[in-house]
Amino acid sequence: MCNPYIPKAVQLVIDDVGRREGIKARGSMYRRPPVIDRQTVLRDYETIADIGAVVGMSPQTAVELCDWDRDNVCAHYPTTQWQGEGWDNSAVYGDWVGGVCRLYTERADDIEFTVHGVAHDYWIDGEPFPGEWVDSRDGEPWPDAEDHLACFKAIMAQHGLDRDLPTPFPESFVACYFQYCLRDGDPRSTGALMARHGVRYASNPFREPWREHSPASAGDGVFDSGLLLLERDMVGVNHAQVATVPDRLPNTSICGMHWGNMLAAEVADNDAVAERWIAYLREIDAASGLVLARNSEHCWSQWVYHSFAEVSESERGCSIDLKGIPERAWDEGFARAFTLCLPDRSLGSMREIVSEAFDVSGVEGRPGEVRLTLAPRNQVGGTVRW
Ligand SMILES: [Zn+2]
Repeated sequence: MCNPYIPKAVQLVIDDVGRREGIKARGSMYRRPPVIDRQTVLRDYETIADIGAVVGMSPQTAVELCDWDRDNVCAHYPTTQWQGEGWDNSAVYGDWVGGVCRLYTERADDIEFTVHGVAHDYWIDGEPFPGEWVDSRDGEPWPDAEDHLACFKAIMAQHGLDRDLPTPFPESFVACYFQYCLRDGDPRSTGALMARHGVRYASNPFREPWREHSPASAGDGVFDSGLLLLERDMVGVNHAQVATVPDRLPNTSICGMHWGNMLAAEVADNDAVAERWIAYLREIDAASGLVLARNSEHCWSQWVYHSFAEVSESERGCSIDLKGIPERAWDEGFARAFTLCLPDRSLGSMREIVSEAFDVSGVEGRPGEVRLTLAPRNQVGGTVRW
């Protein structure tokens, strides 16, 4: 591209992180999507953080917390797991949980803690139903979905995560089995439930009616009850494919994966898989029209500008019109800093960047282009000159 433009930012979202036991380690009542056929260890979490550190991003890891339950609090919330009131996690719980929690608190710039669920399904008298937050049979939220969140929070608190993570509760969320009740403004809906607890950034594969949901929404994003829900591209990779990098680039802002896709069958081989992931993510970052998101805030903010702002070239600079950005994006705080890409021929003449409409907080030279990080000073826009 030869004119200044606002690229799409891609965030890596990894589901089904957090479970300890391998696929075959539990009985038939223990239903969940397979992750990998071995016990998971701290190194499996570090592998994600290491990938994030190398490419300069903080991937979302959507976690299930039942295996982290030190105090058997899940017994008080019998629909969260397969043992009901008889829940006993003592055989699974161990020192490994402390190491994992330290990783999340000490390396928050490299790996993001994201809500997925307690044990991924919803149990009635020990029988699993797919979709922890919403009943997949009728699309309605489970009546005690709020209790499942209370259970999730209680397990976080056992390990001080409510105190030591960047926010007391995660700002990002992925619905189990992608069962998400989208009813903007309905207090029972999934978005309203999550927003009440501080979630802002959600993603899901889209169904057709969702695209029409709100007049303030573009084709691959929907404002919902205080959340901004972005369309997830599964990028052709199945949840059960271990050590699998996609063979194409994502078409939306969300590269949606599962934990097993990022790991090797043997832990010792994780680094080799990570190398392939690093190469793939760098390919996204180098692709025309795309950049890697530094974190969820950047990804979701970038979506707003990419979808609704207009850039036009002018002499010695460009003009960015923000008037098309919906009120909700401003009111709900989604329109923050964003990336503007310039052709690298701009670099030769660039001495000083001047703008009355934007704060310039970053200038980064890349092969073929220059990337500016801009934060708006108003909701109208204006010129950037160099
Ligand atoms: Zn899942």
